[in-house]
This record gives sequence, C-alpha cells and structure tokens, in this order.
Amino acid sequence: MNQPTNTDPVFSFEFFPPKNEEGAGRLRKARARLAALGPEYFSVTFGAGGSTRDRTLETVLEIQREGSVDAAPHISCISSSRSELLDLLRAYRDHGVRRLVALRGDLPSGAGGGLGEFRYAVELVRFIREEFGDHFRIEVAAYPEFHPQAANAEKDLEHFCQKVAAGADSAITQYFYNPDAYAFFLERVSAMGVDIPIIPGIMPITNYTQLARFSDACGAEIPRFIRKRLEAYGDDTASIRAFGTEVVTRLCQQLLDDGAPGLHFYSMNQAVPSEAVWKNLNLAPGR
Ligand code: FAD
Repeated sequence: MNQPTNTDPVFSFEFFPPKNEEGAGRLRKARARLAALGPEYFSVTFGAGGSTRDRTLETVLEIQREGSVDAAPHISCISSSRSELLDLLRAYRDHGVRRLVALRGDLPSGAGGGLGEFRYAVELVRFIREEFGDHFRIEVAAYPEFHPQAANAEKDLEHFCQKVAAGADSAITQYFYNPDAYAFFLERVSAMGVDIPIIPGIMPITNYTQLARFSDACGAEIPRFIRKRLEAYGDDTASIRAFGTEVVTRLCQQLLDDGAPGLHFYSMNQAVPSEAVWKNLNLAPGR
C-alpha cells in the first residue's frame, strides 16, 4: 500500500449537528463514550448552502470547550458566497479551530438559490490557503468507487489530485465495503504523484434501509453478499448489528493490516456501533 508509513494511524469520528436539545443531549453522551477511545479529532458535518451553519458552529464550539478532543468542522462551498465562507472561517480560526474538512457539498433536490461563487472543492481549498495560509489542516473527500457525478473515473482521479495540489493535507474516503477499491485508488493516485494520507471512511452497519438509501445517493456499493444477508434479516435489528459489526471489523482489520493510515468512522451520532468495531480491533484507548 502506497501510504506514508512514518506516523501512527489517525482515528476520528464524524457527527452531524443535532436538530434539537434532545438530540444534542444524546450526542453529548455518544461523544463522551467515543472521547474515551482517544481519537485524534471529532468532525461535524455542514449542510450545503449553510443550512446547518449555526448548528455546526455550535456543536464545534461545544467540542472545543469540552477540550479532550479537537473539533474539525466540515465546510462546503456550494451555494455560499466568498464573504459568508470568509466570516465562518474567521470564526473558526478565532475559536482556535485548526482542522477543516473542505467539500463542495450537495444541494438537496429542489433547493432554491444559486450555486454560489465556487463550483468545486478545489476552489475552496485554494481560497482557504490564500486567506489563511497554513493555519488550518485541510482534509478533502476521496472516492475509491468514484463520485457519482464524475464524467469518468480518470477525470475523477485528476480532480482529486487537483485538490491535493491546491493544498489538502490529507483525505477521507467515501465509505466502501470492498477494500480492493481503496487499494486500486491508492495505487492510481500515488502513480499520479499524490503522497498525502488517505484515510478510509468507515460506515458501521445498523440499518439496511438507511444504508441502501445512502449508498444509492453517494455511489457506494454494498456487495451482494452483504445486501442479501441484511435483506434476509428484515426487522431483526440484533442480527443486522451483529453481522454488520463482523463485516465492518474484518474490513477495518484488513485495511489496517495493509497499512491504512487511520480510520474515520461515520458515527451517525451513535457511539455503540463504532465502539463495537473499535473493541474488536483491540485498539487501545488513545492507541
Ligand atoms: P469535488 O471534489 O468538487 O467533486 C465533485 C464532483 O465534481 C466530482 O464528480 C469531481 O470529479 C467533479 N469535479 C471536480 N473538479 C472539477 C472540475 N474542475 N471540472 C469538472 N468536474 C470537476 N456533503 C455535505 O453537504 N456536507 C458535509 O459535511 C459532507 N461531508 C462529507 C465528508 C466526507 C468525508 C465525504 C467523502 C463526503 C462528504 N459530503 C458532505 C458529501 C460531498 O459534499 C459530496 O460527495 C459532493 O457531491 C462532492 O463533494 P467534493 O468535495 O468531493 O467535491
């Protein structure tokens, strides 16, 4: 695997900003459990067009105040103006945030408003570097199974390389269940000169309908053997979770054995599914 080998693996968990106080309370509890595992950072998603701007900021600041784990806000550029993005980035800088996940974002279908001043994530990465130099560590998105809107696979790889050339420090992948997709992606981008860490994004499996919906939307493939097993479990949540934990543990183990530079868990604001995989992997708290 062509990945930097001189650093310890980086583990992180992703959350979405809760919609109300009840959700915020649940997320606090999940965060406390996951903080005990000693991750490098917690990231917080951002609704394209700024739809969760305040809630993302609020959640990020709460994580910063808790103090045990660094916060990494996601920021997406589609349908936002330069000045809106600049204000938000300044607020993060002024609150001591040092890491960002920089994205284009997806507008919900039927959303009004224009596309904004930036069309692609590469422009946002350039903008952040121009305005803030090296203040932020910048993560970008990578797609081992290719982005659904890409003109073709080679173009998608080129666009990924452009984000790296624009100043991304590392990347997080869309989730996948086929480790070969990741291995081939690394091989190709490494041949194209990319030498930053590319961290696999890991989606725990807890609910088949939701997973199938997400996967259709983002272009992630659920292998047939997983789909068929999950379909057969129907409403049997315990079996779905047990099988999901086993599949995802094996995937993570293989990725780490092959030299992956870390794992980024899409926690869906739940501690238990990611924690179960983490425990199976025998990763010590704080590693
Ligand atoms: P880009 O890198 O801009 O790529 C988008 C598409 O445009 C690709 O098909 C690419 O090939 C193509 N492209 C890029 N540059 C060019 C060019 N110069 N000319 C022509 N085509 C080009 N979404 C959210 O709304 N909020 C979030 O918080 C969020 N978090 C995410 C976290 C991770 C780790 C990942 C993997 C995705 C996340 N997403 C989030 C989803 C993401 O916003 C979507 O996948 C979006 O469609 C693409 O974002 P991007 O940053 O990869 O875009």
